[in-house]
Amino acid sequence: MSQDPNCIFCKIAEGKIPSRKVYEDDEILAFHDIQPWAPVHFLLIPKQHITSFAHVEESHAPLLGKMMSLVPRLAQQEGCRPYPEGGFRLVCNTGDDGGQEVRHLHFHVIGGPRPWRKG
Ligand code: 5GP
Ligand code: ZN
Repeated sequence: MSQDPNCIFCKIAEGKIPSRKVYEDDEILAFHDIQPWAPVHFLLIPKQHITSFAHVEESHAPLLGKMMSLVPRLAQQEGCRPYPEGGFRLVCNTGDDGGQEVRHLHFHVIGGPRPWRKG
């Protein structure tokens, strides 16, 4: 699996930096954001280093499909109330204009009862 030795999310994926895990399999990790905006805020990442959503290729489609299909189940597991009163926000900041700070593809899953700290 391709990793970037200088990437903080690769280090989290490898267990070199600890995280509060929400879900893990061979290809995917979900863990709580260290600075949550809302009662529920976790990040879903591929374990392989993909720099951003702008770097996604057709060959990544099965991986991305698997990640997307996990979102509703993990959101509910972590405390998001059911749709439509509850729900969640799915965010993928991409590049500088997109507000991306960590250059390893990640989806924010944000939810829980309002008010939120941000967003
Ligand atoms: P971005 O702005 O790149 O979309 O979001 C990066 C997110 O990663 C931020 O919400 C930030 O709080 C979170 N983050 C950055 N470093 C760490 C870390 O070491 N551990 C965890 N759990 N979250 C992190
Ligand atoms: Zn990485």
